Amino acid sequence: MSDGAEDSGNVVSLKLKRRPAEEEFPDLSTHNNHMAKVLTLDMYKMLRERATPNGYTIDNVIQTGVDNPGHPFIMTVGCVAGDEETYEVFKELMDPVIEDRHGGYKPTDKHKTDLNPDNLVGGDDLDPNYVLSSRVRTGRSIRGFCLPPHCSRGRSEGEILRYKPTDKHKTDLNPDNLVGGDDLDPNYVLSSRVRTGRSIRGFCLPPHCSRVFDKPVSPLLLSAGMARDWPDGRGIWHNDNKTFLVWVNEEDHLRVISMQKGGKMKEVFERFCTGLTNIENLFKEKGNSFMWNEHLGYVLTCPSNLGTGLRAGVHVKLPNMSNNANFDEVLKRMRLQKRGTGGVDTDAVGGVFDISNADRLGFSEVELVQMVVDGVKLLIEMEKRLEGGQSIDDLMPAQK
Ligand code: ADP
Ligand code: MG
Repeated sequence: MSDGAEDSGNVVSLKLKRRPAEEEFPDLSTHNNHMAKVLTLDMYKMLRERATPNGYTIDNVIQTGVDNPGHPFIMTVGCVAGDEETYEVFKELMDPVIEDRHGGYKPTDKHKTDLNPDNLVGGDDLDPNYVLSSRVRTGRSIRGFCLPPHCSRGRSEGEILRYKPTDKHKTDLNPDNLVGGDDLDPNYVLSSRVRTGRSIRGFCLPPHCSRVFDKPVSPLLLSAGMARDWPDGRGIWHNDNKTFLVWVNEEDHLRVISMQKGGKMKEVFERFCTGLTNIENLFKEKGNSFMWNEHLGYVLTCPSNLGTGLRAGVHVKLPNMSNNANFDEVLKRMRLQKRGTGGVDTDAVGGVFDISNADRLGFSEVELVQMVVDGVKLLIEMEKRLEGGQSIDDLMPAQK
């Protein structure tokens, strides 16, 4: 990591022609995201004098939050990292954003990891009449490469696609399903361009999701430059059942996903943990490490995903509960978040929501999946009460 405070030399070498900070400071007065809440003109002035060793500037960091003032469901973050050093070089902005987004997580706090599914209580029994599908995902970044908002068009991170699980690892991944990626000349791979197949369809759990690895459409991702040159340098690994997937070079270098129909969250989490360990071993064997530190946990592109990077979610039918005045309050108290079922920028259709953990940092993986299991159970119980015209007042939970 570079020393942020002394790093101002980089921006000079970039020779950026700019108007004075007062003129270029964006109007954030109507914005509702964490970045806009934290960034002041004085801070902007100071941070404009810096760049990461890879040339990522404060204007790059905040672009997505400038272009996207708000979001109907969730308080967005409004900034992204272009490389591992972003979090250190721009810490005057990033630390308070992280603190805000992650429930008071302090710069001195340490993150914890627990990827042992045996520690999960319950979760094998979420009512499949309500829970249509269950999913757990996380991201991982490869140290030494720029993150997707800032990687070059050559997208050297595509090199990851060459890696194949070996027999020794007894992994769940079937490399035969990898589209392309075995023909990159290792002598040139750092500067060559990787073209994988088109977006791969067929992994969805119809009719509840329409895309899994299509070009991102979310303005949050587009403004951050994450869909550049799609589908170059992108690819996907999956097992035969398509219940374990690894996306390469979408929002993060790696997105590791375990999913299946129905409410067996425990099974999904077990597969997630095993697969993730296999992938870590695979990368270690190739001499690559993941971006990680004691404070931030796993370092990912969006500050909202730091720590575990884990989002455990279900698509669940809650037509009554979602119209109840207490819906948002219950979600908040159970530390859950709602989305539409088509992804982060979509609306719920027919009372079906994507309900997932709101936190990523400061809680272990098991603790987060536990919140989803407990919270979804409660929401279904409430839904059933409301179906019968009964009150849910006595079921209101305390703040977790
Ligand atoms: P993430 O950032 O966790 O990948 P998004 O909201 O961007 O989540 O959604 C990515 C895709 O995954 C979308 O196509 C969405 O429909 C699908 N998806 C998310 N959760 C589930 C789930 N529990 N079951 C089925 N599909 C899901
Ligand atoms: Mg996403």
